[in-house]
Amino acid sequence: MSRSLVSIVRYEKPYDSVRKAVELAGGLSHLKPSDHVFIKPNIVFWTAKTVIPKWGVITTSRVVEDMVRLLKDLGINHITIGEGSVAADPKDKETQFHAYETLGYTKLQKRYGVKCVNILARPFTKVDLGDGMKLSFSTDVLESDAIIDLPVLKTHAQTTVSLGIKNLKGTISIPSRKRCHNADPNMNLHRWVARLSDPMPPVFTLVDGIYSNERGPAFDGRMRRSNLLMASRDIFAVDKVGAQVLGYAPEDVPHLKLYAENRRKPLDLSDVEVKGEKIEDVTDFHQYEFGYTEDGALPAPMAKMGIQGLSYYKYDLSMCTYCSGITGAVLTAIAMAWKGQPWDDVEVLTGKQMDPRPGKKKTILLGQCMCKRHKDNPDIQEAIPVDGCPPNPKSIVAAFHQAGIEVDPNIVENAEQLPGFLMARYKDKPEFEEGFFQVE
Ligand code: SF4
Repeated sequence: MSRSLVSIVRYEKPYDSVRKAVELAGGLSHLKPSDHVFIKPNIVFWTAKTVIPKWGVITTSRVVEDMVRLLKDLGINHITIGEGSVAADPKDKETQFHAYETLGYTKLQKRYGVKCVNILARPFTKVDLGDGMKLSFSTDVLESDAIIDLPVLKTHAQTTVSLGIKNLKGTISIPSRKRCHNADPNMNLHRWVARLSDPMPPVFTLVDGIYSNERGPAFDGRMRRSNLLMASRDIFAVDKVGAQVLGYAPEDVPHLKLYAENRRKPLDLSDVEVKGEKIEDVTDFHQYEFGYTEDGALPAPMAKMGIQGLSYYKYDLSMCTYCSGITGAVLTAIAMAWKGQPWDDVEVLTGKQMDPRPGKKKTILLGQCMCKRHKDNPDIQEAIPVDGCPPNPKSIVAAFHQAGIEVDPNIVENAEQLPGFLMARYKDKPEFEEGFFQVE
C-alpha cells in the first residue's frame, strides 16, 4: 500500500518554514505553469466596524503570501484567492474586500498579480454527490486545475476539528451551507462535511498552526501560539494527523470516520508517512466543546453565576452559522441582565430540531426554523417567535423583554462588534503578533 506523505514543521521564519513544510510533503511539482490555482484561506467572519482578534481564527497572511511566492517560483501565474466569509448582513458582498485589504491581499494582487474573489458574489454549480446529496460549489473552485487549502489548526464546537476538509465548506453557497446543518439526524452535518472534497480538483493542504484555537472555530475560543505547519497532497491524511495533534484520534471525529467509510480508506495512520516532527512531540490537547450543565440546559458559566428560571439548551448540529453568530452576544446580554431573581421558567429553542420541554411557561423560538417547526405547537404554553434567517436582533431583544429578561439592546444589536472587545485579552501578550496578518 502506498503511503501518503504528511509533513509537520515548526514555524521558524517567513517563507523558509512554509517551503520546508511543502517540500517534505512531496512538493508542488504536480502543478504546471499554465495551471489555474485557487487558494482557499480560512476567514470565518469579517466586519469593517471593529478590529477583530484574528489569531487562531483566520489564516495568517504570512502563510498566504509564502504560498503565493512558492507558486510564483514554479512559474504559475493564474492564482486566485477566494473565500466566502460570513458578514453580519447576508446580502453584504463588500465586506469580503475589506478583509482582503486589511489582510494585505490587495498588496499580493499588485505584487504577484493574484486575483481576489468573493466566492459568495460569484457563480455556483450544483453538484450531485450521490446518496441524495446535492450541494452548490463555487464554479471558480471546480474549474480550477488545483486547490491550495489553507485551514487554521482549530477545534470546532460541532465537528470536533476544523481542518482541510471542513475549510472547504466556505466554497459552497449559503443555501448549501444551511442544508449541511440538516435537521434529519441521518443526514447530519458530519455526513455533508465528509463529502466536501469529493468534487474538488487535486487539493494540496497546508494547515496553518502558527496559532491554534481551543473551543473554536471563532473568536471566543482560547488561542495558543503553537508554531506548527502541516502539509500534504492528501487532504484526508493531513486531517487525520491534524486531529491527532489536537488530541483526537481520527475515529473520534465523525466526519473523518464517514470519509474513511465512503472512500474505503483506513481510519488509522497505517497509510500515512509523517516527515519532520513526530506527532507525539507536537500533540497538544485542545478541548472542542463549550461546557454546559449535565442536562444541557445552560452554559456552565451561566449555571455557575446561579442563573435560574432559564433554559438555553446546548446548540446542536442543525444550528447554522448565522444563528451561531448571534449566540455569543445573546448569552452575554442574558448574563449581564441577571440580577439574582429567578426568571419565569423561560426556555430558548434554537437550530432546526429542538423541541420544547415540559413545565416551561415561555418558549422563545429563535429563528425561522424554530418558528416553522413549532407553529401552533400545543405543548408550548406561551410561544415567543423570533422569525427570520438570520433572526433580527431587534426582534430578539423584544422577545427576551417579553419573556421578562431585560437584555441590553446595545449588546445584541451590535453583535458584530463583540469580537472587537476580545482584543483586550491579547494586550501585553507579545506572542500574539498582528504582523502575521499583514503583508509588508
Ligand atoms: S434560522 Fe438559523 S438555523 Fe434556521 S436556517 Fe437560518 S441560520 Fe440556520
